[in-house]
Amino acid sequence: MTSCCAKTSSDPDAPSPATAIDTARTLLINGQWQGAQSAMPVTCPYHGGLIRFVACAQPHHVQAALDGARQGLALSRRMSTGQRAGLLHDVAALVARRRADFALCITRESGKPVAAARKEVERCVNTLRLAAEEATRIVGETINFDSFPGGEGRSGYYFYEPIGIVVAITPFNDPLNLVAHKLGPALAGGNAVILKPAEQAPLSALLLVEAFIECGLPPGVISVLTGRGRDFGAALVGSTEVAMVSFTGGETTGAIIAGDAGIKRLAMELGANSPVIVSHQCRLALAVESCVSGAFWASGQNCIGVQRIYIQQSRYHEFVAAFVARVGQLATGDPLLETTDVGPLISPGDAARVDAWVARAVEQGAEILCGGHRVGYACYAPTVLDVAAREVAVCCEEVFGPVVSLHSYTALDEAIAMAYRPEYMIHAAIFTDNLQEAMYATRALECAGVLVNDSTDYRLDAMPFGGAKRGALGREGVKFAIREMVQTRMVCMNFAH
Ligand code: NAP
Repeated sequence: MTSCCAKTSSDPDAPSPATAIDTARTLLINGQWQGAQSAMPVTCPYHGGLIRFVACAQPHHVQAALDGARQGLALSRRMSTGQRAGLLHDVAALVARRRADFALCITRESGKPVAAARKEVERCVNTLRLAAEEATRIVGETINFDSFPGGEGRSGYYFYEPIGIVVAITPFNDPLNLVAHKLGPALAGGNAVILKPAEQAPLSALLLVEAFIECGLPPGVISVLTGRGRDFGAALVGSTEVAMVSFTGGETTGAIIAGDAGIKRLAMELGANSPVIVSHQCRLALAVESCVSGAFWASGQNCIGVQRIYIQQSRYHEFVAAFVARVGQLATGDPLLETTDVGPLISPGDAARVDAWVARAVEQGAEILCGGHRVGYACYAPTVLDVAAREVAVCCEEVFGPVVSLHSYTALDEAIAMAYRPEYMIHAAIFTDNLQEAMYATRALECAGVLVNDSTDYRLDAMPFGGAKRGALGREGVKFAIREMVQTRMVCMNFAH
């Protein structure tokens, strides 16, 4: 699949809607690529130019995808764990060979700077390799039935079997690796998957699925429905044929999906507004560099991006000066340039939203230390705010943009109290070389993962990953996602005489 970002939506040479529908064969149903009655453009977030059209699935495509997935499930169930591992290894190797194509596709559709896109591709390769390795390690155990009176003479065990048809719904911000985090574990577990990638950035997912097909994926094991989730999502997730919905995205969407899905297994990887504590006993240069990267990676469109930094009073000014100076070195602009650090937000509307949130914070007393304005079509200048009030949107909601707020504290418990949010948390972090302080924080911070001397943005694809508190369900991190996507089959044999 090739992409071209050269034309704008208003370009007279742009394809007519009829041509667009003809070429947008992006629904994968029972092993066949097909189109739909309508198509939608995928555009470059940096300048709005057309990349290509994709088909818009409708509710009637859902039943066709489910029928195909049922047949695919019969095939995937019969694949040995060795075959599953082999397929996943082959796909990982193919993605690695085509790393440049994948990186370009990520950059074009999501606006992620190309250097960062390359890292996402390497992580995707790792995710698929981990899935291949874990496919051969999905093991149960024997049970001592005679441990309780009445169990004498019985022996048995349990093993893990596929859960069935998994619906995987993914967001725009890591359009390749987050798809791999669903497809890899689902296939390792022997399931069939119906994938619904984000409407703004579905092309990397399509490239990945093409790689699976090239490596011998049996028909129906992966299906793809492109288009708008609101058009067909309820029919898809609500089907009683679907055993599990694995969703990554925003909390509002997650709540709609949970309501539509009804009683079935759910995985909900939602958002956050991650806090970092910088103790006076830290290596300041390390804290600054890590926090800058963690706050502005992918233009802050990152569920574990650094959004709030609490700095111990005695080093507050030193930290702020170094932090703002480092942010000032970041280059904002064309994500295809090697020198760009901060690309566009996913849409001009998101740049406008972030701008409005910053303006509201300023009205509530925040001071802009750098940034605070839009750049071009959909970029936003990396923005640092000195925030006194805590109940402003940039502190208590998920900005999902290149904005970070700085606060000072005196004692660690005060910082931990300020880091606390009652709603969503994924990671929290502390920079300190004081072991006692670090150990105390790892227990006291209320979150799903604590990073010491790394920012909240650090993630290894093998580690357990997910949210704490409201709405978060399940864990990703390949081995942990597989556990969510299989179910136990218990066997008890009675040979008592
Ligand atoms: P989003 O708007 O919630 O969309 C996520 C996915 O849900 C998209 O594929 C979307 O399709 C689909 N969707 C929307 N309405 C649906 C419906 N009624 N039924 C079924 N599917 C539906 O999120 P986003 O803007 O793409 O991503 C940003 C959010 O994702 C942030 O909150 C971020 O924190 C979160 N996120 C979390 C993690 C994590 O691992 N915890 C990782 C990355 C991102 P359309 O695109 O067609 O609307």
